[in-house]
Order: sequence, then C-alpha cells, then structure tokens
Amino acid sequence: MAIDPVCGMNVTVMRAENESTYQGIKYYFCSAVCREEFDRDPDAYMYADQDDPGPDYQDESFDSVD
Ligand SMILES: [Zn+2]
Repeated sequence: MAIDPVCGMNVTVMRAENESTYQGIKYYFCSAVCREEFDRDPDAYMYADQDDPGPDYQDESFDSVD
C-alpha cells in the first residue's frame, strides 16, 4: 500500500498503473490526473505523507522516549 501524495488516497501498489520516480523514490497515484499533477511540480508534494517526514522533525521525538 502506498499513499498518493497528491490526493492522499491509498493506492494498491500491485495494481497501480500510475507511478512516477522522483529523486530515486517511487510514488504511486490513483489516476493519471494525480500523476500529471505531481510531475508538474514534484517539490510541492515532498514530505506530504512519506516515511521521511523532513529535515526538521527528529529532535524532540527522540527526547520523549521513556
Ligand atoms: Zn490521487
């Protein structure tokens, strides 16, 4: 399962017909419309809902582990 970074929908990777690779990472889309939207401006969707939440995220979450 992957998240369509454009609309936030769950996409079943095995059945995904619309995919795009940006900076070495594959993204999956529910439709060609979302893929085209992403291809037009990929940076706008970076860190939207991926495993890597972005550069400023880590500090405080480590301190709060008991
Ligand atoms: Zn979509």
